[in-house]
Amino acid sequence: MRLATRVANIKPSETLAITAKANALKAEGRDVIGFGAGEPDFDTPANIKQAAIKAIEDGFTKYTPVGGTDELKDAIINKLKRDNSLVYKRSQIVVSCGAKHSLYNLAQALFETGDEVIIPAPYWVSYPDIVVLAGGKPVILNTLEKDGFKIKPEQLKSAITNNTRALIINGPSNPTGTVYSPEELKAIASVLIDENILIITDDIYEKILYTKYPFANIASVESKLKDRTIVVNGVSKAYAMTGWRIGYAAGPEEIISAVSKIQSQNTSNPTSISQKASVEALNGDQSVVSMMVGEFRKRRDVIVAALNDIPNVKCLLPEGAFYVFPNVSGVYGHSYKGKKITDSTQLIDYLLDEANVAAVPGAAFGSDDHIRISYATSLKNIEEGVKRIKNAIARLD
Ligand SMILES: *Cc1c(COP(=O)(O)O)cnc(C)c1O
Repeated sequence: MRLATRVANIKPSETLAITAKANALKAEGRDVIGFGAGEPDFDTPANIKQAAIKAIEDGFTKYTPVGGTDELKDAIINKLKRDNSLVYKRSQIVVSCGAKHSLYNLAQALFETGDEVIIPAPYWVSYPDIVVLAGGKPVILNTLEKDGFKIKPEQLKSAITNNTRALIINGPSNPTGTVYSPEELKAIASVLIDENILIITDDIYEKILYTKYPFANIASVESKLKDRTIVVNGVSKAYAMTGWRIGYAAGPEEIISAVSKIQSQNTSNPTSISQKASVEALNGDQSVVSMMVGEFRKRRDVIVAALNDIPNVKCLLPEGAFYVFPNVSGVYGHSYKGKKITDSTQLIDYLLDEANVAAVPGAAFGSDDHIRISYATSLKNIEEGVKRIKNAIARLD
């Protein structure tokens, strides 16, 4: 079968693949502990579910405007003002079927052959492929663990060329949990002020934050960049709503209207019922968010301590999101049944086959010295899973 070249140019999402493999093993009866999931393990809060049930009962089950209802756009506008001190009009907001869809449509609206898009690594698995699908060229900026996986302003400056169209920035980061402080964002902004490039800030983990300082993004610390920044966010991670598929982008009217135009020829509107639920998520009681973050923080402290207790494993304390990204390169070179483990993919295969633990190879995020472990699972699973990893690593020669 002849498929379009663009299929061969990308790889399937590795995080989704690992989750599927772990679920298949579980279905076979294997006692697998899943550290692969990129989603909160909590249930969607009851008030949000009720809003969706009401939407169905009220017959709110038809097409809505392509870029979302005015009611939801207004809830997003209020949220961006309340939490981020950013002021937008309805024409500057588009609601999509998840933040991933907003990012995809943005890439389709902005990038084409020859356009370079700067992506700091470790990066979220989908950024490079979303850029490639649009015909653009991902330019990966490697960061160092000793710098907390943060890009340096000088490094960014030297990566910018005449072909640079945009920078994608994500904090709290998936996979590292790295958060840029307002001062660090200011320093990055000072480089960008003199350049004519767009900034896409993926704020999806905004609420899952353990820092003393409040959340900031580049547009909120440097108002001069607001007209060139597109804020991408959604309800998936903050409100445990991954399956509802609602995300959004806020930015310059011309860009947002181009995204809506593209969306009008692919999905049309995001689900009407999910939009009603998202209005309740954004406008309703927010206390459930701090409950979830409190739980994530406890788990983070437990898992980081347990991982650092494993010989040859080193784990930074993440400041946000629900992932740890331990450095496992100290394990490379050791072997199992005569076979050497030399990279993150081999280690992940070994852990799944021999320890019944599913995590994601760092290679998927642009860093082969690491693996990504999601702690969006119970403390019991965390304790048992890390014990299995420790024992499995101890068994290597
Ligand atoms: C989960 C995730 C998204 C996508 O979220 P949606 O469910 O599509 O809204 C976007 N960016 C990052 C970094 C993520 O981890």
